[in-house]
Amino acid sequence: MQRFKDEIVIVTGAGSGLGRATAGRFASEGAAVACLDLAEDAVRETAEKIGAGGAKAAAYTTDVSDADSVGATVSAAAADLGRPTILINCAGIGKLAHSHEMPVDEWQRIIGVNLTGTFLMCQAAIRHMLDGGRGVIVNIASNAGLIGQPWSAAYCASKGGVVMLTKALADEYIKSGIRVNAVAPGGIETPLQGKFGVPEGANIKRLLKITSPWGNATPEQVAGCVAFVASPEASYMTGSIVSYDGGITL
Ligand code: NAP
Repeated sequence: MQRFKDEIVIVTGAGSGLGRATAGRFASEGAAVACLDLAEDAVRETAEKIGAGGAKAAAYTTDVSDADSVGATVSAAAADLGRPTILINCAGIGKLAHSHEMPVDEWQRIIGVNLTGTFLMCQAAIRHMLDGGRGVIVNIASNAGLIGQPWSAAYCASKGGVVMLTKALADEYIKSGIRVNAVAPGGIETPLQGKFGVPEGANIKRLLKITSPWGNATPEQVAGCVAFVASPEASYMTGSIVSYDGGITL
């Protein structure tokens, strides 16, 4: 399949996990891919791997929570590869904490990357998409944006925010040729899961509700769903929140 031939795709969080798999998936279907991540070596590795496979990719070290960094990167990607037509927002962080003990800067860091970062990337990309009269955005939400889970106030709030940001942008730009959807994964086998930690005294059995009997998805499985949502096959979809979670939000 070459569903993304001639498309210029920006993928955030492309240095690891879902972002890396998604960048590879779009490249394998003909896209030129701008790979963005805070992790400089990792994102360069992603772009080099794609390039070695014969597709076009460029790496950019970016902090999605910083408006100047986002603006400079999206402009550079447009100059290097061409006007972006697809944006996939995968960059994300999380950490479990007892809410009554959580330092406010930790709250702000999670909201800053997951929610504000997604908004800043959408804003910068939409400016280019409006010029071209079309565009597709897929934001990565989470089951945590749809159901509550313990020790996750900031993460759940950020992902719930991504859900409503997606719907608001879908409505605002529905007559401008820009589709905006979200994929809400459940557990994915990536390094992020190890970074959440378990707060002291927490009974981890309370997290069983977010464990699918099917186990975790692979990043490649989720990337396949993201590619479908971004593809012409989903051309009638906007404002949709697509759960891809092994049934945990049933
Ligand atoms: P991952 O392997 O940790 O990849 C996330 C990437 O984003 C990392 O390379 C990370 O860099 C980067 N990043 C962090 N902060 C950034 C910033 N400010 N600017 C730019 N890049 C930044 O995680 P993943 O599992 O692939 O997560 C991808 C998305 O899926 C996230 O939005 C996550 O919330 C969502 N998700 C994941 C799961 C899961 O079970 N894994 C489930 C549901 C939803 P560093 O390594 O330097 O932090």
